[in-house]
Amino acid sequence: MSTNEQVVPPARRPRKADAPRAERVLTGIAISPGIAIGPAFGAGESPTDIVRRSIAAEDVPAQTARLDAAIAQSRKQLTKLRARLAVLPEDSQAEIAPLIDAYLQMIGASRLVRGIRRRIADSLVAAETAVADETETQAAALYAAAQADDPASRRRRADEVREIGRRLVRNLTNAPFRSFAGLPDGAVLLCEYLRPADAALLDPARLAGVATDEGGAEGHTAIMLRALGVPAVLGAAGLAQAARPGDLVIVDGGAGRVVINPEPPTLAAARRGVTAFAREQQKLARLRRLPAITADGEAVELQANLEIPPELPLIAQSGAAGIGLLRSEFLFMNRDSLPDEQTQHDAYRAIIESMAGDPVTIRVLDWGGEKDIEALSGEGLVSPAADTNPALGLRGIRLLLREPALLEVQLAAILRAAATAAGPVRVLLPMVTTVSEVRAARDIYDRVARRLRRRGERLPDKLPPIGIMIETPGAALSADALALEADFFAIGTNDLTMYTLAVDRAETEVSHLYDPLHPAVLRLVQFATEAALRMRMPVSVCGEMAANPRLTPLLLGLGLRSFSMNASAVPRVKQAVRAAKIDDCARFARRVMEQADPARIQELVLGTGAGP
Ligand code: PEP
Ligand code: MG
Repeated sequence: MSTNEQVVPPARRPRKADAPRAERVLTGIAISPGIAIGPAFGAGESPTDIVRRSIAAEDVPAQTARLDAAIAQSRKQLTKLRARLAVLPEDSQAEIAPLIDAYLQMIGASRLVRGIRRRIADSLVAAETAVADETETQAAALYAAAQADDPASRRRRADEVREIGRRLVRNLTNAPFRSFAGLPDGAVLLCEYLRPADAALLDPARLAGVATDEGGAEGHTAIMLRALGVPAVLGAAGLAQAARPGDLVIVDGGAGRVVINPEPPTLAAARRGVTAFAREQQKLARLRRLPAITADGEAVELQANLEIPPELPLIAQSGAAGIGLLRSEFLFMNRDSLPDEQTQHDAYRAIIESMAGDPVTIRVLDWGGEKDIEALSGEGLVSPAADTNPALGLRGIRLLLREPALLEVQLAAILRAAATAAGPVRVLLPMVTTVSEVRAARDIYDRVARRLRRRGERLPDKLPPIGIMIETPGAALSADALALEADFFAIGTNDLTMYTLAVDRAETEVSHLYDPLHPAVLRLVQFATEAALRMRMPVSVCGEMAANPRLTPLLLGLGLRSFSMNASAVPRVKQAVRAAKIDDCARFARRVMEQADPARIQELVLGTGAGP
């Protein structure tokens, strides 16, 4: 994701109050199935909270530089938004483009920017304080003047000033969006961009659906929304500007469609869709107790990925046989300081206990890429601004080996939780690319275990296995060497696809190029799988590929027998497993792997009934 932006209020030029508003259909990326019908809630409506800060005179240049960076970032975001309007019908473009132009003007050589700069220098306040104060002063003046002449245009201008102020503050503070408290029950959340940390704060019981302007199919926000079972569409250009708060909205997460102010027939069709989806879910729920065995009797392990604890009941309902990927990032999100050993221990223990004896694979912190975590920058461990290309930067195991204390605390918490909880536990290392990283992490693991034993802690006699994610081409192609160092592999096809094809998994503009069925990706999956199978080492797929039942025959045919996925996908994948025969799958996989043309593979695997 190229912007770091939070959510944006649907500030707009008011239309004639009583003009009937026509139905408007926007298309985006289908993220999480289900149909939501509800009133629009623009997530940026509430102001961004800031901590007011005074500064010393010598800090003025640094604060001015921060302001300049935030202005540059805001300009980049707005320019990108404007470019994407081209996909909208002309009348929508004509309505939204002037608004974005007005924002761009305000962050140019404007009275507003001059005023902010003056406040930093004269009042000696931090950049975000100066932005908040100056925008509020100018907006209030515009409101006051509105009493005198042309009230509508002045008020509109005041709203626009406030909106640009919020954008600047969000870019300055990089703060997570925390104001979902005002979200009315049953509302549809519409915004420009939702970060993974924002999505983690959503309550699926209260929220009908989500749609955004930005976002890619396999970014962590998408994964989080799927995990929560919230109908969602991302990447619907023009959305945040097109809907007004309270507009009736339909989000069809399976079709990737958002309808604003639906006509009665559209609404009636959507209601029928809601009923059909619920019926289908009930049917799938019946699969819960059936074993995951192929039609010719081969057992397959189907587990769930967990991103936040509220998913646990969904995992229990899904019939998953354990957690194949616990993404521990949630423990570090939306907080100012790092979680200590006891906090982490308690969280892991509760999750392991709730799985009642089923295995749990805990992945240690995978910071980086789009997953920015304020607590880490707050403690000076990472500097988000320094990483211009975060997906290729200090991500996953790289950070943990540079800051071993982070890894030590987490491993200690996991080891203690593993000793006292009922079920088997495994430890998983993210973003490994070389054997030396596995060796270094294992040394730390052994050292932590020795230290805990000296401390008198009870640990399992045999330490939990330590495995690695295969999620870069480098790791996949070194799989035979890595298999000598690791106890198991978890193939992360989300990042593997991103790094193999050089396509940002969370970027809307290139989402059409993101193709896990590209032969290059499949060959890497095959190479890593075969390396593991030769060593008789456990290997699973835990990327989103595992969640697509149409890919199950291919993955079984490549020799894979263990999959971990978002809980809601487990029943459908089980259905595919129970329908499959291993010999047919192997034959089918051979045929697919002979193809060099991605389009032909898509056709074989997804398309026209040419499967096994
Ligand atoms: C992956 O990359 O496929 C994976 C499972 O890890 P994450 O999605 O958390 O990066
Ligand atoms: Mg990954």
